[in-house]
Amino acid sequence: MDYTAALDAALGRLHDEGRYRTFIDIERRKGHFPHAIRTRADGSEQKITVWCGNDYLGMGQHPEVLAAMHEALEATGAGSGGTRNISGTTVYHNRLESEIADLHGKEAALVFSSAYIANDATLSTLRDIFPGLIIYSDALNHASMIEGIRKGGGAKRIFRHNDLAHLRELLAADDPAAPKLIAFESIYSMDADVAPISAICDIAEEFGALTYLDEVHAVGMYGPRGAGIAERDRQMHRIDIINATLGKAYGVFGGYIAASAKMVDAVRSYAPGFIFTTSIPPVVAAGAAAAIRFLKGEGGRALRKQHQDQAKALKLRLRGLGLPIIDHDTHIVPVHVGNPIHCKMLSDMLLEQFGIYVQPINFPTVPRGTERLRFTPSPVHGAAEIDQLVKAMDLLWGQCALNRAEASA
Ligand code: PLP
Repeated sequence: MDYTAALDAALGRLHDEGRYRTFIDIERRKGHFPHAIRTRADGSEQKITVWCGNDYLGMGQHPEVLAAMHEALEATGAGSGGTRNISGTTVYHNRLESEIADLHGKEAALVFSSAYIANDATLSTLRDIFPGLIIYSDALNHASMIEGIRKGGGAKRIFRHNDLAHLRELLAADDPAAPKLIAFESIYSMDADVAPISAICDIAEEFGALTYLDEVHAVGMYGPRGAGIAERDRQMHRIDIINATLGKAYGVFGGYIAASAKMVDAVRSYAPGFIFTTSIPPVVAAGAAAAIRFLKGEGGRALRKQHQDQAKALKLRLRGLGLPIIDHDTHIVPVHVGNPIHCKMLSDMLLEQFGIYVQPINFPTVPRGTERLRFTPSPVHGAAEIDQLVKAMDLLWGQCALNRAEASA
């Protein structure tokens, strides 16, 4: 085989479809979030404001998180030195898992290298634990859930996004005796809409199904202690397995599941994605635990309020310009562009002319024709940053002669 030609062909397909991705080289500056330095291809530097980050609360520069990480670094060194089963379980991992279990009101938690791996490893392993398991998966579930469900290899049913009638219809059509699991997200990050958790739990109860909820875009930010939408909606006790990340609102890195002690014990014992990989560094575990601890308390409540206020302020201003924002009353602010070329052009102009960094969101992340810019205001985006963004969007939207009709809510 001509391997080089095959590589060229694979990359060429992406170029042809306009889906070839390039990295923007940025360096965040601690103490100055959301500002960062971009290094251009020619080596020159540009001051930018990051508007598409998922460090939703700025915890990546929080003094308590950094202090915990410094302390762990000095105490234990760089890495964990092993897999969890072979010398890679430390007091930091245990403390983090206790913190997570307490956050979600569950008996236990299990930390993975990322929430992607946690979804992939858990969902693919549940089929070994519950033979004949049928998984009912929301059509807009994240790639990591899709991959885990695919890898598990058993029966799966895809229900239309947030469509309770369709979910019920699919469940009713299957053998009542078969083990079942409903897998869904709390906040779907591209449209920023929210799942009807309570109604899904009602249906799960009716059909004897387990529930699996991805709270990646909600932990830290919703609920009295930041445990997510299920906590806010008082449904946490009805979810069998909660998945989330330590890399977004908690500002660090890693992912986890929280569940009953038996469920965690079984996943821990069977999941290759947990067993055969080096555990996260103690430094990372210490930082994540500090972030969770902080956000459970008064400081967290204040940040959550600020976060929602900033999102509301940005939406109000963009809506005032008649820009088609997608608003589901969450912290993410997608602006519908509806064309991949315009979307990329706007993103490039914002970056080059205004130092505003927002990545274009194109197919396959979202369906063709729904291309968008996805802004993530945070407590570290002040009035000045919002003002600059709104003025730039107004100007560029006019220059590009884009439609100002309102998008869906
Ligand atoms: N689940 C959802 C819904 C996500 O959007 C993402 C990542 O963006 C993940 C899981 C994976 O999280 P992590 O970045 O910790 O792997």
